[in-house]
Amino acid sequence: MRATHDVLIAGAGPVGLFLACELRLAGASVLVLEKAGDSRSPLKRPPFGLRGLTMLSIEAFRRHGLLDAIAAPTTGAQAAAHWANQSRRPGGHFAGIQFHLDQVDRSAWPKPSPGSPNPPLAVELERVEHVLAERAEALGAEIIRGVGVEDVEQAEDGVSVLAGGARHAAAWLVGCDGGRSVVRRAVGFAFTGSEPEFTGYSVQVELADPAGLRPGRHHGPAGMYTFAPPGVIAMVEFDGGAHHRGEPITTGDVEAVLHRVSGVEVTVTALSQATTWTDRAFQATAYRRGRVLLAGDAAHIHSPLGGQGLNLGLGDAEDLGWKLAATVRGDSPADLLDTYEGERRPAGAAVLDWSRAQVALMRPDQGTRALAAVVRELIETRDGTTYVASRVWGMDLLHN
Ligand SMILES: Cc1cc2nc3c(=O)[nH]c(=O)nc-3n(C[C@H](O)[C@H](O)[C@H](O)COP(=O)(O)OP(=O)(O)OC[C@H]3O[C@@H](n4cnc5c(N)ncnc54)[C@H](O)[C@@H]3O)c2cc1C
Repeated sequence: MRATHDVLIAGAGPVGLFLACELRLAGASVLVLEKAGDSRSPLKRPPFGLRGLTMLSIEAFRRHGLLDAIAAPTTGAQAAAHWANQSRRPGGHFAGIQFHLDQVDRSAWPKPSPGSPNPPLAVELERVEHVLAERAEALGAEIIRGVGVEDVEQAEDGVSVLAGGARHAAAWLVGCDGGRSVVRRAVGFAFTGSEPEFTGYSVQVELADPAGLRPGRHHGPAGMYTFAPPGVIAMVEFDGGAHHRGEPITTGDVEAVLHRVSGVEVTVTALSQATTWTDRAFQATAYRRGRVLLAGDAAHIHSPLGGQGLNLGLGDAEDLGWKLAATVRGDSPADLLDTYEGERRPAGAAVLDWSRAQVALMRPDQGTRALAAVVRELIETRDGTTYVASRVWGMDLLHN
C-alpha cells in the first residue's frame, strides 16, 4: 500500500499533537488519527484537568510561541484564589508532603529565559490540547478524529494501520495512544514494571455533613485523603489497585472508601465527577521496533503523584520530532533515531522511580508513617525543599 504521509501518529493527546508540531516544523508530512470524536471532557478541566508544567515544558512552549495561549488567564485566576486562602503558598508535594515557595533557594539554578514564568505553572489539559491541535493544523498536519487504530502491519519500507474500517499507510508510525496503547500491543512491545499498591480516586461531591471532614491532606488507617471544600476530594486506598476498574463509581463507593481512609462517616448526596487511577508503574523495554515508535503514556505509565507524566511525554515528543524528521529526509546519521530511546528511556525510568519512592512513603503502616515524619522534617529544611522543588519542577534537567 502506498504511503500517503511520512509519519502517522496514533492519538491526538498532548504528546501526539506536540509531536505533530515538531515534525511539521522539521518538514515531515503528518497524519494524526484520534479515537475520540470529541476531544473535550470535564476531566480535562479544573479541578481534575489541571496539570503542572515543569521548567522544560514551560521553555518548550515559550520557544514555540504557545506559552501565553496555554497558560490561560482563567487558570491563573483560579490558582490565585486557591492560594489566597493559604498562609504560605505551596509549590508542590512529595508523597503528600507539601513544600512551600518561601523555602525554595533558586540562587544556584539556571535562570529561566526572559518571558518564561517560574514554576509551578498549572495549566488546563483541555486548553493544552486545543492550542496544540490548532497549531499542528496551522502547520499542515492532518488530524482525523473519531477513528481509532485497531491493528498495525509493518513492511520493510513502511507501515500501515487499520482504523475505522480503512487502511492508512505511512513511512513511520508513532504510538501516542496513551497508557492502554493499541499500537504497543499490536506491534508486540514488551511492557514491564511494578503492579499497583493502591487505587486513587478523584471525585467532586456534595456532602450532607462536610464539617466532619478536615480540609487539607491527611493519613488514615487504609491510606490518605485530600479535601478541598466544598466538595473536591482525592483519596488513595492501599488495596492493591483492586478498585480501579471500568465500572462507574457510585456515591456508596465514595462513602465506603472515604470511611476506610479517613475513619469518618460522611453522607454523599451528589456525585458530579469521579475517576480512578493507580500507581501501576510500567515502561516499554524498547521505544522502537522497526518503523514503529512509542512516546508519552504509550511508552510509560505511573501514578500522577507529583505531576510528571505530561512533562515526560512532551520531552519524548521534543526529542523524537527532529530526529524522526531528519531520518525521513535522509540527511542524518543512520543511528540518530536510536538515540531517542537511549535518551528518553532513562528519563522515563527516573520518573517511574520518583513515583515509586512516593508510594513507598505513603503506605499507612506505623513504620512508614514514622519514616515519613522524618522525611517531612528534612523536606521542611531549605536544602530539602530546594532539592524536592528541583526534582518536581524539572530544574535538575535544565542547563544554561
Ligand atoms: C489525575 C491525574 C493527574 C495528572 N496530573 C499531571 C500533572 O500535574 N503533570 C503531568 O505532567 N502529568 C499529569 N498527569 C499525567 C498526564 O495527564 C499524562 O501523562 C498525559 O496526558 C499523557 O499524554 P499522552 O498524549 O501520552 O496520552 P493521553 O493524554 O492519554 O492521550 C492519548 C490519546 O490517544 C487517543 N487514543 C487512545 N487509543 C487510541 C487508538 N487506538 N487510536 C487512536 N487514538 C487513540 C486517546 O483518545 C487520547 O486522546 C496526570 C494524570 C492523571 C490521571
